[in-house]
Amino acid sequence: MDDCIFCKIARGEIPSKAVYENDDVIAFDDLSPQAPVHTLVVPKAHYRNLSDDVPANVLAAVFSAVGEVARIKGIDGSGYRVIVNNGPDANQTVQHLHVHILGGRPMSHGMVAFAEEA
Ligand code: AMP
Ligand code: ZN
Repeated sequence: MDDCIFCKIARGEIPSKAVYENDDVIAFDDLSPQAPVHTLVVPKAHYRNLSDDVPANVLAAVFSAVGEVARIKGIDGSGYRVIVNNGPDANQTVQHLHVHILGGRPMSHGMVAFAEEA
């Protein structure tokens, strides 16, 4: 995927604030953080989102890395929220599967804000 921004980050072609990396995934801080800790975990292989027949081993690698990132960021004890935006209704803006890890302060009980309420 030549033009995909997260593929470019995974290939090291554009800079990112790297948090963690292994053979299958890369984790880096979000450019526009929405919480004191806001890190993205991205598979190095390109999948559009969770509806893209993502192999189980890739999903396992991504979600294993979530726990690792939480430990690195020091929020595994305090807690964090994990969000995957899929498609238009979820406002997915980067069409490469990614998991948001948000933490560092207490969050609302409600998890969802609808567009007409925001
Ligand atoms: P989503 O709306 O779930 O597709 O989230 C995409 C996220 O990627 C947003 O939170 C953006 O701030 C973030 N983002 C976009 N470009 C970059 C970049 N070059 N480096 C880090 N985060 C980015
Ligand atoms: Zn990509």
